[in-house]
Amino acid sequence: MAEISINGSSYQVDDDRTILSAARELGYDIPTLCHHSVISDCGACRVCLIENKKSGNLMPSCTTKVTDGMVIETENKRLRRARKTVIELLLSDHPNDCMTCEADGNCELQDLAYEFGIDKPAYGGFKEEPRFTIERDNPFIEHDPDKCILCGRCIRVDQEVQCSDAIEFVERGFAAKVGAALKKDLGDEDSSCVFCGQCVEICPTGALSYAPSLGEGREYQLKKTETTCGYCGVGCKLELKSRDNRVVEAGSIYRDNLPNPDGEACVKGRFGYEFIDHPDRLSRPLIKDKESGEFKETDWEEALDYVVDNFRRIKREHGAEAFGALCSARCSNEDNYLIQKLMRAAIGTHTIDHCARL
Ligand code: SF4
Ligand code: SF4
Ligand code: SF4
Repeated sequence: MAEISINGSSYQVDDDRTILSAARELGYDIPTLCHHSVISDCGACRVCLIENKKSGNLMPSCTTKVTDGMVIETENKRLRRARKTVIELLLSDHPNDCMTCEADGNCELQDLAYEFGIDKPAYGGFKEEPRFTIERDNPFIEHDPDKCILCGRCIRVDQEVQCSDAIEFVERGFAAKVGAALKKDLGDEDSSCVFCGQCVEICPTGALSYAPSLGEGREYQLKKTETTCGYCGVGCKLELKSRDNRVVEAGSIYRDNLPNPDGEACVKGRFGYEFIDHPDRLSRPLIKDKESGEFKETDWEEALDYVVDNFRRIKREHGAEAFGALCSARCSNEDNYLIQKLMRAAIGTHTIDHCARL
């Protein structure tokens, strides 16, 4: 354990903690941009500076471990000025078009500019015109490098959580941006990107956006519903976002007791939600008309009576072994349990299989 002083109060904390994690747990608010709970810290943004009262140094709290006897301040005039300068420098290299930006209302840079009262660029510079083109090389992710603050969160989640190694910083100086290896596109055939969307989810600005969600509404206009992805038995938790009763985005939930605590999702869970509101989706049962061969809409009562009558007839005429059931990994465990119960107990056959075994 280490005995430390924060803002004049003494605490005992584990000596393997960073100042940021210890201070936040003790209730001290330290602003950050490049930090995220599911990835390692790298001290890229310098917003989380704290003051070491013994040395007089300003230190990044996300990458500095606590040490015994440390005396720090997390809030004072000097720190506020330093943090404000860092944010002003980031904004001097930024388009500042919040009004039309997809991330408006869901942007950590915008939140900090508000908190620090930055209403106009503090520095002129040659970044008045866009320097990059917006990348739209695939149907899933739109990348606007002009809005990138080079925090590296997307790269770390891609490498540490998703383990795809699909993106890195490319180029140097003012030309630096996030990109795929060898300047290829994420959608290229030999790209290792699997379009899990975690880089988009973790980006603190509007640099990365979900392409299918563009123009579908601001974050605060979307209704959020926590749900379980129905595509496979892993049961990842997702936050479906809807507007006017239509799903427009699948977001991550970061919580320890989930099967996907780091907000993971695969391409199906992340982007395969359009079937929910698709006009071709069956919403009522259909019975095929024997004479015309056409399917006709009916209600559940008639459809189930039809099934029961025909099950009885087939069993009478051909026996229970004429039946077989194929269950689905997209159904719940309860549904799968019930279909085998129906086959074994009601019909009398053990001919049951499951698509996950194939
Ligand atoms: S990324 Fe954030 S700060 Fe930049 S234009 Fe968009 S909303 Fe504004
Ligand atoms: S979508 Fe997933 S795999 Fe592709 S770059 Fe982003 S984090 Fe990596
Ligand atoms: S794209 Fe987003 S997450 Fe990645 S470095 Fe830029 S601002 Fe950070």
